[in-house]
Amino acid sequence: MRPRALAVAVAAVIAVACAPEPEAQPPATTTTTTTTTTTTTTPPTVLPGPGGTTVPVFQHPYAYGTPQQHVPPIADGMVPVVRRIATDRPYVFITIDDGAVRHPAALELMRKSGVEPTLFLNSKHVDGYADYWKTFQGAARVHAHTATHPDLTGTSYDFQRDEICGNADLLRAQLGAQPKLFRPPFGNFDHTTRRAAADCGFTALVMWTAAVNDGVVQFQAGGRLNAGDIVLMHFRHTFVEDFLAFLERCKLDGLTPVVLEDFLADRDAVV
Ligand SMILES: [Zn+2]
Repeated sequence: MRPRALAVAVAAVIAVACAPEPEAQPPATTTTTTTTTTTTTTPPTVLPGPGGTTVPVFQHPYAYGTPQQHVPPIADGMVPVVRRIATDRPYVFITIDDGAVRHPAALELMRKSGVEPTLFLNSKHVDGYADYWKTFQGAARVHAHTATHPDLTGTSYDFQRDEICGNADLLRAQLGAQPKLFRPPFGNFDHTTRRAAADCGFTALVMWTAAVNDGVVQFQAGGRLNAGDIVLMHFRHTFVEDFLAFLERCKLDGLTPVVLEDFLADRDAVV
């Protein structure tokens, strides 16, 4: 028994002696540090977009759909005229009008950028194409722009009421939208427009302070977008160039596009 026990003990010593020495291994400190850093997830600032484009990405600075400011009150039976939003936060607002071109890349650009625009749509561009416009649910907010896109100034109350109420009725019926904001075609309106809009259940008439045309952001004053600006663009064949030009301008100017109706919330909403 004793010689056998000795043999086992010797084997154990040899095994220990043959184990690799700790000093022979490379230091592990650097590897550990690197691994810890790379496991931290940061949201992307750009994403690949349609046609090989690069889409700037914006994070939501608050939960969209949460009222942030109240709409100005209706006075003398007329909706207020909103040209810009008074805010000290670095926010801008993007609005897209008409709906004449149902661009196949529009929804993808909105989803990837994280930007939720306000769409002012005419009945004549929605009627018969509801399947396309319904895809924007959850990605954009639909509001009103008249039935047939006439110049409203100087026309009768009944005519203006039909154009404005009729547009709202169609957007509700075909898209399930709840239009509260109204943009007059060409930006043209008079007191009758503001009265008819109020009577049709609207809370504000919305103008703009900058526009995007042919892939270029155009300012009413100065050479940059400023906090509170409301930007106008259209559903055109240049949608990709126009939307990307707006997003890139926002990044340059340090601004985040947020939801317009959150800053024009009903006066009974909790802000
Ligand atoms: Zn228009």
